[in-house]
Amino acid sequence: MGDVVPAHAPVRIPVDGTGGHFPVRRVYCVGRNFADHAREMGAAVAASKADRGTPVFFLKPADALVLDGQVPYPPATQDLHHEVELVVAIGRDAPPGVVDPADALGLVFGYGIGLDLTRRDLQAAAKAKGLPWDTGKSFDHSAPVSALVPAARVGDYTQRAIALEVNGQRRQHGALQDLVWNVEEILHELSRFYALKAGDLVFMGTPAGVAALSPGDRFHASLDDVIALDGRILPPVIAA
Ligand code: MN
Repeated sequence: MGDVVPAHAPVRIPVDGTGGHFPVRRVYCVGRNFADHAREMGAAVAASKADRGTPVFFLKPADALVLDGQVPYPPATQDLHHEVELVVAIGRDAPPGVVDPADALGLVFGYGIGLDLTRRDLQAAAKAKGLPWDTGKSFDHSAPVSALVPAARVGDYTQRAIALEVNGQRRQHGALQDLVWNVEEILHELSRFYALKAGDLVFMGTPAGVAALSPGDRFHASLDDVIALDGRILPPVIAA
C-alpha cells in the first residue's frame, strides 16, 4: 500500500554559481545573539562571555523557507518584523555526541543570508505569558533565504557583516565578530540538544534595528558583496 496522502518534496536551495542544490532537513534559529538587539528587545545583556548563560534556540519548519523573495503578508498579525541573519548550512552529519567547537566549522557547507520574519505582536504576547514562540516565529513564508555560497568563497566569516535595506533605506547592520555566540559555539551548543545532520540550516540571530514591514515594501539583505537576497512583501493571501 502506498502513501495515503501526497508526500512533500524537501525545499532545495540553489548553490550560487554551481547549478547544484541543498535539500533542507531542519531550520534552527538562535535568539538574542547580538547584544544591541537583545537590548532593544528589553532582554538582559551579559556583561562578559562567562555570563552568557545558554543560547536561545527555536525552530522553523523547513517549508517556511521562501526561495524567490516573494513573501505574502502573513495572517493574524498587525506587526510583521524583519530580522536579517547569517544562515549557516550544515554539509555533513555530525559524529555522535557533542561537537567540539574546534571541529564545528568542518561541518559547514556554506552560508546564506536570510530573514527571520516575526509576528512581533504574537511573540510579545507569548513572551508575556511565558508561552512558546511558535505562532510568532514559525509560520508559512517566515524564512526568505538567499542562494547558498560555499564556505571557501566566504572565507573568514568573522570579518564579514550582514545588512538589510528596506525600500532603499538602511535598517540593520551587524559585524559578525559581534555575535554573542559565534558559529562554532552555536553548533557546539545545538549538538548538546539535537543530532546535527547534512541539510540543516541555522539562522544565527539578528543585530539591532528590527522594525515593521508592510505590503509593497522591498527588501535587500546582504552578506558584504558576497551574497544578496532581494524580495518584497506582497498583499495578504486570503485563505479560501
Ligand atoms: Mn531572529
